[in-house]
Amino acid sequence: RVFKDPPNIRRLDETVVNRIAAGEVIQRPVSAVKELVENSLDAHSSSVNVVVKDGGLKLIQVTDDGHGIRYEDLPILCERHTTSKLSTFEDLQSIKSMGFRGEALASMTYVGHVTVTTITKGQLHGYRVSYKDGVMEHEPKACAAVKGTQIMVENLFYNMSARRKTLQNSADDYSKIVDLLSRFAIHHTSVSFSCRKHGAARADVHSVGTRSRVDAIRSVYGVSIAQNLMKIEASDNDLSSSVFKMDGLISNFNFVAKKITMVLFINDRLVEWTALKRALEIVYSATLPKASKPFIYMSIVLPPEHVDVNVHPTKREVSLLNQEVIIEKIQSLVESKLRNSNDTRTFQEQT
Ligand code: ADP
Ligand code: MG
Repeated sequence: RVFKDPPNIRRLDETVVNRIAAGEVIQRPVSAVKELVENSLDAHSSSVNVVVKDGGLKLIQVTDDGHGIRYEDLPILCERHTTSKLSTFEDLQSIKSMGFRGEALASMTYVGHVTVTTITKGQLHGYRVSYKDGVMEHEPKACAAVKGTQIMVENLFYNMSARRKTLQNSADDYSKIVDLLSRFAIHHTSVSFSCRKHGAARADVHSVGTRSRVDAIRSVYGVSIAQNLMKIEASDNDLSSSVFKMDGLISNFNFVAKKITMVLFINDRLVEWTALKRALEIVYSATLPKASKPFIYMSIVLPPEHVDVNVHPTKREVSLLNQEVIIEKIQSLVESKLRNSNDTRTFQEQT
């Protein structure tokens, strides 16, 4: 063996560091859409409209009617770690907003071209400014604007050729975006959402703020799902002294589908929880005679200090205290709901 001198360790260029980090936060077009829609919801919007071109690679445009962004904040808006939502690390314990790290917009400027148009209450005109690599490309320009903010991301991953190629070959990013908006629409029922392809007359998701969740599900997922749902609810104060609340709508014995749809919000965050999803899939296949996969909408509320929201760069997963207890509890609730409704049906069929 020949001994070689060790290679020198160098400090990476800041732009390189930022671009690497950005590629983790914004994994695909749908991750950018999620961050932008969450910003619109954090800004208390009552309407959020999404336009997408080329699966999001050419253009993602999210328009809201929220509180807008102050003129003074525009210079640092897209810098990494600039946020209006968090100030101390301890704040993370009780964070209610969906964003908190000030990384989403910054990330988009490192892997795409970002243009922001915004107006705040009481202003006669808005401002428009474009960003690249975290900084403004020019002074904000006065422009006409109605209310809220519009963010446009163009040419996503223009500087990451491998990523762009894989995404160009996969045709399903638009359907991922439609799926995402559908999920938001049935949870945030007082907000109107729309999602359409650029230039298309018809929106593929269209929800008008309604009071009823079943109505929202009907307009987004269709009648056959909406008419086969059962309400499920639980609240519990003795779960090792914590508070746990759950309510949801789950499909009944009549419903037939090849794939499970599980729309889960924990403390109003859209998350994936594979263990719970599996557990419920098992309950359905064990309880219902038909080999049908369920549709499940569920909203779980836990004390914020029991939910660690900072475990994944995309915030797609959260980590919870007492996971097993919660899963078991929900599993047995769903099971008894299914059994009861199935028994009623068998009884009705016999008589
Ligand atoms: P975070 O959401 O974690 O704070 P972002 O990079 O997503 O970080 O956004 C940075 C800041 O820009 C937010 O804290 C918010 O103040 C502002 N902002 C972003 N999008 C909007 C919007 N649609 N409406 C109003 N303010 C926004
Ligand atoms: Mg955000």
